[in-house]
Amino acid sequence: MRWLTKSYGSGTAQVRALREVSLEVEAGDFVAIMGSSGSGKSTLMNILGCLDVPTGGRYLLDRTDVSRLDERQLSLVRNRKIGFVFQSFNLIPRTPALANVELPMAYAGVGRTERRSRALAALEVVGLAERAAHRPNELSGGQQQRVAVARALVTSPALILADEPTGNLDSRSTNDVLEVFSQLNDLGRTIVLITHEDEVAARARRVIRLVDGEIVQDDRVAPAVSVAHGHVPAASDMGREVVR
Ligand code: ADP
Ligand code: MG
Repeated sequence: MRWLTKSYGSGTAQVRALREVSLEVEAGDFVAIMGSSGSGKSTLMNILGCLDVPTGGRYLLDRTDVSRLDERQLSLVRNRKIGFVFQSFNLIPRTPALANVELPMAYAGVGRTERRSRALAALEVVGLAERAAHRPNELSGGQQQRVAVARALVTSPALILADEPTGNLDSRSTNDVLEVFSQLNDLGRTIVLITHEDEVAARARRVIRLVDGEIVQDDRVAPAVSVAHGHVPAASDMGREVVR
């Protein structure tokens, strides 16, 4: 994206949520976007995810200019190219994990048998294949979020976007979910994750900090190694230094 601006409202009531933000996310990268509340993180994520369009500037997604698409075109792009993970999981209640994961493929017109096998494979990736028949209320918060991650990756999107994905999780579940993101990135997935937690950002390869709608910091860091491997990761210390 180049010289991207986003304003809400007009005249004296106008809020400039993003001010000429220029940013390029490379395929296979793992980017954490940090910043205090109101700094423009969700606005940026909404534009990256084609949930909203910028007021000014250009946004190329996979070489397509999506800055000026209408609502219908945006929803097509979203369905094909973006996988979303939200703070509140957004799973369909009383519906088995497998069916939740199949849903984006149903919209995309994938046949029943293939839907099923790809959904199972995605649940396998997040370590929940044996929970495929469980409903969201039968799963822990961390497991629900891993189902949501499976749903986000099942269409093989160009970009996985996560807005505060661990915001509702305890530290153990946070770690499980972060482990899944790290694994996905190792498998070549492109991830942009919004967070205000240093521990979460420490998993990323690149940390971007927003203040008042501007990028004030953009650092490449070595991603933290998994806690499961038991060392104290130097990269997480780097991640911590970047903060505030
Ligand atoms: P963050 O996610 O970092 O907390 P947001 O992107 O949600 O920040 O908000 C950035 C700024 O834009 C804030 O000042 C917020 O009040 C304003 N804002 C966000 N969404 C809207 C909206 N739909 N209408 C008006 N102002 C908005
Ligand atoms: Mg936000």
